[in-house]
Parts: sequence; C-alpha cells; structure tokens
Amino acid sequence: MHKNFKNIEKVVYGRGSFAQLDEIIAPVRKENDGFFVFVVDSYFEGKPLASQVPVKEGDVIRFIDINPKEPTTDQVDELRDRVLAENGMPSGIVGIGGGSIMDIAKATALMFKNEGSSPQYQGLNLIKQEGIYHLGVPTVSGTGAECSMTAVLSGPEKKLGLKCEWTVFNQVILDPDLISTVERNQWFYTGMDTFIHCIESKCGINYNVYSQAYGDQAIKFCEDIFLGENSGQNPENDEKLMMASLFGGLSLTYSEVGACHSLSYGLSVVLGMKHGYANCICFNHLEEFYGDYVNDFKKMVAHHNIDLPQNLSKDWTEEQITAMAEVSINLPFMWRHAIGEDWESKWGIEDIKNLYRRL
Ligand code: NAD
Ligand code: ZN
Repeated sequence: MHKNFKNIEKVVYGRGSFAQLDEIIAPVRKENDGFFVFVVDSYFEGKPLASQVPVKEGDVIRFIDINPKEPTTDQVDELRDRVLAENGMPSGIVGIGGGSIMDIAKATALMFKNEGSSPQYQGLNLIKQEGIYHLGVPTVSGTGAECSMTAVLSGPEKKLGLKCEWTVFNQVILDPDLISTVERNQWFYTGMDTFIHCIESKCGINYNVYSQAYGDQAIKFCEDIFLGENSGQNPENDEKLMMASLFGGLSLTYSEVGACHSLSYGLSVVLGMKHGYANCICFNHLEEFYGDYVNDFKKMVAHHNIDLPQNLSKDWTEEQITAMAEVSINLPFMWRHAIGEDWESKWGIEDIKNLYRRL
C-alpha cells in the first residue's frame, strides 16, 4: 500500500509574515461561538511578539511553559474543558511556539470535537470527528511538527501521537524572524531533528524518490546552516532552517525514521529527555547505521561548541536500560526500515541494550 498523505492546507512563508495572522483568521471567526484560542510559548510573555498576537474581545490567550515536561494528555484535556466551560466552542486555535506548543494546538483542536479524554485517542486513526480549525506558527525549527500528521502527547500509559489526517494544520505561517532568539544549544538540538529525519529516511528500505526530493534539499540546507562558510544563527540560515524543518518533515512522511528515533524514544519515555536532545545523544554513536553522516554531525557539534554529554549510561541501572530497550523494540516499523524485512532474525533486545550502554 502506498501512503495517501494529507498535506498542510495553506502555507504562508516569509519574513514578517506573522503580521498577516489577523487577516488570515478573520474569515474563520464566524465559525462556532466566534472566538479564537491562542496558545503561546511562555518564552514570549512580555516580549514584543506577545503584543502582536491579534487577540480580540472574547478571545482566549494562554501562555504555556513547556519546560517542566513535554505536552501531556492532561494538559490538553484541561485546556479544552476550561475553554468549553468558560467560553464555549472556539472558531479555531492558534499555536505559537516550538514542537511542544504546536502539538498542544493540534491535539486540542481535535479534542474540542471528540468526547472523552485524549489518552483514548493515542494511536493511528482513533479520532472520530474532524477537529476545529487550527493554525501553527513555529518559533523553533526542526521537528517537522508544522507538517506532520501527529500530535505527540505523554499520557498515563504511553507517549504516543494522536495521528490522523485531521491532525494536520489547516494553515501554517512560516516567519523566519520568529526563530532568531532560540538559545544556541536548543537551536542545534531541534535543528538536528530535521537533519536526522532526513538521514534516517534515506538509510532504510522505505526510502524513495519522493522522500529524496525533500530530504536532499533539507540536508543541503543543514550543511550550509551548521557547517558552511556562513554557518550559525543568522537571518539567511533562519530562512533555510525553517524550510529544512518543513522539508525534513515531508521527507520523513514518505519514508520512516530508524535506529536513532527508536533509541531516542526510550530515553524520552524512561528518563523524560527532550526529543531533539535525546536524538543528538543517540546519533553521536550510530556510525554503523549512518556512516559518514555521524562524522558530519560530530563536526557540527564541535563547530558550534554544543553541550553533548557522553558516558551517561554509567549512571543507568540495568532495569532502566531494559525499560528503554523495551520501548525501543516496540517500535518495530522503525527497526524494519533501518535493518530490513528480516530484521528480527538479525536484531534483538540485547543488541538494543548494547547500543544504550554506549551512550
Ligand atoms: P520546544 O517546543 O520543546 O521548545 C524548546 C525551548 O525553546 C523551550 O524552552 C521554549 O520555551 C523555547 N522557545 C520556543 N521558541 C523560542 C524562541 N523563538 N526564542 C527563544 N526560545 C524559544 O522545542 P521543539 O524541539 O521544537 O519541540 C519538541 C517537542 O516536539 C517534543 O514535545 C516532541 O515530542 C515534539 N515533536 C513533535 C513532532 C510531531 O511530528 N508532532 C515531531 C518531533 C517532535
Ligand atoms: Zn524527530
């Protein structure tokens, strides 16, 4: 079966395009109870961007601090329940932030129209009704959350996305100005997410020319941004990184992630490590899967003087390593992509534990 992929409906790209938000949502304001919900990363509270959010009478704006933890099912349910109780059914929801805030906006948009609590919808195509209009404004680039079909939430039992066609944003505004303030390590960790999406997509059996078309361009941009003559955080590279994130997400949509994301999930679930950071911790040690790309990665880390700890595993118990390996082996489609159809005859939980021991 070939994938029948739902893309973002509308995309604005360009420096300063955030100013068009008001105009873009104006026609949608007639829907439902006629107000908008804005979820904004708390980094922007009191900053100039906050005063540019087109909040009208009756709208709800929430600044969310995503630093203590990645988005949770409770957080999404609470937001929906409170808005429904106090304000009614919104016309739409706008998420302004990195992958965390975009995922909260995507998930809450769905939950406004689906009864019950979000853990019951963690998985593929479990959502029953189309959600409300949702618009994403990335302020950190790399995750591909701006174009993906999933909204990743940590629930009582699992960390898993609400994944379906309706999860995809109706509209995205890509304004490279908005990512200029991201702290250097964070810029790198999240930026590497897209590099790794492309490399993992490329190095596996699901790879195809569609995935390549997006992925090769995104890899080229990443090389410019992180290794080129003009490397580092500057306006030109902010533009490239924003497109690299989108293209990396699209490349991945037509292929699959592999060993690095599979291991990284184990670190996030068991140790609560953030996605981009966890990927970097793993990718650093995966030469046999990703060859020279790992050398490029090491050069990038050194070039930007990025904090990337090693020998973390010496502090992990055997139980923790086993728990991580169990999370990882339960992502068989990733290992299948990375190793091949017959992966189970070549690869097992002991091999995965050995990889964790390297970190
Ligand atoms: P993030 O959203 O977690 O934000 C990282 C940090 O950057 C936070 O401290 C935030 O306050 C800060 N920040 C945001 N914008 C800023 C700005 N312009 N200037 C300065 N600081 C800013 O980071 P992320 O790496 O983009 O997202 C990670 C999340 O994305 C995880 O929860 C992960 O599960 C999710 N994710 C989702 C998908 C998907 O397809 N839906 C894919 C990959 C990752
Ligand atoms: Zn990723």
